[in-house]
Amino acid sequence: MRIQIICEKCSSIAEFLPPRTGEEVGIQTVNKNFRVGVNWKNEVIENVQEEFVKELSEVATNEERKELLEAKLTENAFAETIDFELSFTCVGCGDRITLNDFQLSDFIGF
Ligand SMILES: [Zn+2]
Repeated sequence: MRIQIICEKCSSIAEFLPPRTGEEVGIQTVNKNFRVGVNWKNEVIENVQEEFVKELSEVATNEERKELLEAKLTENAFAETIDFELSFTCVGCGDRITLNDFQLSDFIGF
């Protein structure tokens, strides 16, 4: 499989072609004709664990709260990427295409 990017304005073409079938392709390999950019938004979803909230309320000082947050925040709150965009900008003329509405590969099912 390969992916082609074609600028309709100036006819510039680039292609993502894996070295061997099924292998991965570096996103910057089309850099000569197109600049590739990403954008994403993260949101901490409401998943702060009850137990953790209780622990936080039980410590007395800000110093203790800081230590607790540093030690346990990552395992008690979850961030989720809610929006992801991939864009290709033509180096020749500046025209751009932006892809969005991505799905996690694990859920596609092949
Ligand atoms: Zn162009």
